[in-house]
Amino acid sequence: MDDGGEASKYGERVHEFLEYRLKENVELPQDIAHYEVLCTTVEKIANGGELSIEKELVLTEELKPTGWWEPDAWLRSKLDILVLRGDTAYVMDWKTGKRNPDFFQMQMFACQVFKHFPQVQKCKTSLVWLKHLQMDTEEYTREQSNQMWADIMKKIRRIYDSAENDVWPARPSGLCRFCPARHDCDYAAL
Ligand code: SF4
Repeated sequence: MDDGGEASKYGERVHEFLEYRLKENVELPQDIAHYEVLCTTVEKIANGGELSIEKELVLTEELKPTGWWEPDAWLRSKLDILVLRGDTAYVMDWKTGKRNPDFFQMQMFACQVFKHFPQVQKCKTSLVWLKHLQMDTEEYTREQSNQMWADIMKKIRRIYDSAENDVWPARPSGLCRFCPARHDCDYAAL
């Protein structure tokens, strides 16, 4: 069995049903009905605000908003949940894997939100671990954007350098067991 493939199929299915539930109020199937509590929580947060599901936010290289398929699209993000309420945004990301509160992705989402919605001064982000219904949260302010962009750019530059020099150093981690190349990789951490 390919654990990675199975886990990602499960993740896609859960994402799909949470989307139906929140967009069209379609009841969750029985095996994932326990996620109803998440949907009602999202609805409560969104009360009096604007709720978007699977919201696509895209920036050009000059960090200007653009469309997903536009030729100048450079940084694409898809936010599972985005709520805009006054000067505060709430971002949630559904996670079906093992709990690993790495907030880099959420920092990037917060930066996207600040670029797209000038009224937003505060962005509250949550990683929602579906398996055990746990949540890790971090809050970012517009004042922190410059530092966050500097961190993002550092990572992006590393990718550009690798592409330019065609050097892709292996980075073994707990994720190796989901990697399709793990059986041929000399560095796999299995
Ligand atoms: S198995 Fe090898 S290629 Fe795959 S993630 Fe691990 S180190 Fe990288």
